Amino acid sequence: AKEEGRNRFHYFTPEMEAAAQQRRRLLNQLREAIDLQQFEVYYQPIINLKTGGVVKAEALLRWNHPNGQISPLDFIPLAEETGFIVDIGNWVFTEVVRQLSIWQAHFNTDLQVSVNTSPVQYQDGSSSNLNWFGNNIQSHNLNPASLCVEITESLLMEAGSGVTDKLLQFRNQGIEIALDDFGTGYSSLSYLKQFHIDYLKIDQSFVSHLTSGSQDLVLCEAIVVMAHTLGIRVIAEGVETQQQQQMLTDMGCDFGQGYLFGRPVPANEFAAQWLKSPVT
Ligand code: C2E
Ligand code: CA
Ligand code: CA
Ligand code: CA
Repeated sequence: AKEEGRNRFHYFTPEMEAAAQQRRRLLNQLREAIDLQQFEVYYQPIINLKTGGVVKAEALLRWNHPNGQISPLDFIPLAEETGFIVDIGNWVFTEVVRQLSIWQAHFNTDLQVSVNTSPVQYQDGSSSNLNWFGNNIQSHNLNPASLCVEITESLLMEAGSGVTDKLLQFRNQGIEIALDDFGTGYSSLSYLKQFHIDYLKIDQSFVSHLTSGSQDLVLCEAIVVMAHTLGIRVIAEGVETQQQQQMLTDMGCDFGQGYLFGRPVPANEFAAQWLKSPVT
């Protein structure tokens, strides 16, 4: 019997077993993270390149694990595979709406907050969650236009009627829509028209290689012209240098986001740094 047991598992290497165990442990901890209040939303400023003003911010999720902060890149995929992203996504919505209504009461601000969403949240069965997002906004008396939902190109690719309906619901409520990581997927121009995207976010992989005469410069310029022709405003991600800022401003790019302007920070830090005019 001992021999049999060994044979049954002999194709698992110790490394594979350790990885699987690590994944199970992380999953169990992820299950409890909401109840244990380990999630926190950080906010990163988005700058209007023409005026220099901070008019928007992106909400970025952080997991304050007892052993240290875990990057969303390390737990969002697991949350998506297991469906937890639906609960987590709802938590993020609730938190952002709560925070924004506080900021609107205390500061003289038109800030719009952008929330990342995962394709899993648009799958059938999760629709009530997204509807509930709208109700939550109403109960806090928030102007829906102070919220923006970020979606990925893959969502539009997979778009069945369910996705189309939910995006339309957002639009009808006045919530804006941004297409994230533009240029890394396979969006066709027809999607941009079909889904009435408000903003297009140029992925940081293009922005980081912006130099005069570079291919990425030509690409970014073409994206801006094309977007503007369709009535879409453009946000450049990952702006780290003044040279990048200058080139983006020169080509008519509308907004910039990146470490040059500010890193993602906790809500109170964001308010202290960027929301300076209290209502008197
Ligand atoms: P993303 O939506 O593309 O977010 C931008 C990422 O770039 C963020 O990483 C941000 O901190 C980082 N970033 C901003 N400026 C710069 C810069 O100048 N240089 C560099 N190198 N990086 C910059 P972060 O916060 O680690 O988030 C990673 C990804 O996790 C996000 O990428 C998004 O896809 C996902 N994510 C974060 N929060 C949520 C959430 O609430 N829900 C969902 N579904 N996904 C989330
Ligand atoms: Ca994003
Ligand atoms: Ca992005
Ligand atoms: Ca990204």
